[in-house]
Amino acid sequence: MSKSVDLFSEAKKFIPGGVNSPARAFKAVNNNPIFIERGKGSLIYDVDANEYIDYVGSWGPMILGYNDPIVIEALQRQLMKGTSFGAPTELETTLASMVVDAIDSIDKVRMVNSGTEATMSALRLARGYTGRDKIVKMEGCYHGHGDSLLVEAGSGLTTLGIAGSPGIPDQIANETIVVPYNDLDILENVFKNYGDEIAAVILEPVTGNMGVIAPKVGYLEGLRELTDKYGSLLIFDEVMTGFRLAYGGAQEIYCVEPDLTTLGKIIGGGLPVGAYGGKAEIMDCVAPEGGVYQAGTLSGNPLAMTAGITTLRLLQRANTYDYLEQKAEILEEGFKANIKELDIDATFSRVGSMFTIFFGPGQVKDYKSAQSSNTDAFAIYFNRMLEEGIYLPPSQFEANFISLAHNDRDLDKTIVANYKALKEVKGN
Ligand code: PMP
Repeated sequence: MSKSVDLFSEAKKFIPGGVNSPARAFKAVNNNPIFIERGKGSLIYDVDANEYIDYVGSWGPMILGYNDPIVIEALQRQLMKGTSFGAPTELETTLASMVVDAIDSIDKVRMVNSGTEATMSALRLARGYTGRDKIVKMEGCYHGHGDSLLVEAGSGLTTLGIAGSPGIPDQIANETIVVPYNDLDILENVFKNYGDEIAAVILEPVTGNMGVIAPKVGYLEGLRELTDKYGSLLIFDEVMTGFRLAYGGAQEIYCVEPDLTTLGKIIGGGLPVGAYGGKAEIMDCVAPEGGVYQAGTLSGNPLAMTAGITTLRLLQRANTYDYLEQKAEILEEGFKANIKELDIDATFSRVGSMFTIFFGPGQVKDYKSAQSSNTDAFAIYFNRMLEEGIYLPPSQFEANFISLAHNDRDLDKTIVANYKALKEVKGN
């Protein structure tokens, strides 16, 4: 019996499902989550002393790899000064100004403690600013677990086959209109019917939470035009893509500016941080400047700010995103060659250092096509990869992340393991 198995049974006695976030329970693949002891660079080590090359990256934040020495040293220095004051510190302005410098559409930014808080707060602000109640979201996009957004969301809900959640009042869910990702016609019809009631359209500009799907050419521009036409706000949820696809996020790559942006993951450098920001005119509606209330005991926490500042400074080094792209291209080439050689029904989908292999037919463009994937094939693939020492997100409907710490040896090993795992899928 492994120590992870023992620890999981023990955890289940005290924690619902044994985990503090559902996706960690490995429900879709083997019900045997691995308990982690430590990480270093591209590698994580479990409590049974197994080593894995990791592509989860704590679900996105660890773009530098684990335990980056410069981040750890900065944290140690801050630790000696104090962990929390609930009073302003210069660190908050430093990180805020770095975010403002990085992302053209952001004039002002408010720090919170998670991606969920960021999107919840951005919605409240959009509603407060426009005086409207309805929200449009895209099928399969996940924006955290706020009531308005937990409607046909991807990520853990798709993995577990949950459409919505008990506990969310109909009055709230009914204010959320869900449309397919990558489809402007349906959205246009929604605007024709409800245009003057829609506070905001929110989406992952590149999706990660139903697997990685890129926006069709012109899609984001179309969203910008429609929201402008009807006086609704456009919110890009860049919790996953911010500082990941480019330093300025997906909006830098696709050259479309939203009114509000939500951030998380990388800006916390592995500590709990989220943020929402946008045009000053909108952000100035937030308390204490304006009436839209939002607050947090630990918001702008000095340790979290330090991890964020140090991580962003390291990302500012020359060629960061070219390096990531090169590593991602190596994996893409290797995986695609394996898929072709073994003649597997699978699609490799990638934007920058985020990728997903969809075990299914043809191009994936939205939630419906993502859901037609063969999740049994994914489970076989996942388990074999794990046996080969490769740690992947335990669901078909998630993004894999490449970090700056993945070296050529890691990538080669991963491609060899991918061949073996695909062969096993083929054999079943
Ligand atoms: N938005 C997106 C795009 C996300 O990927 C996530 C988390 N995976 C969230 C929001 C919620 O962030 P958190 O888990 O920090 O609450």
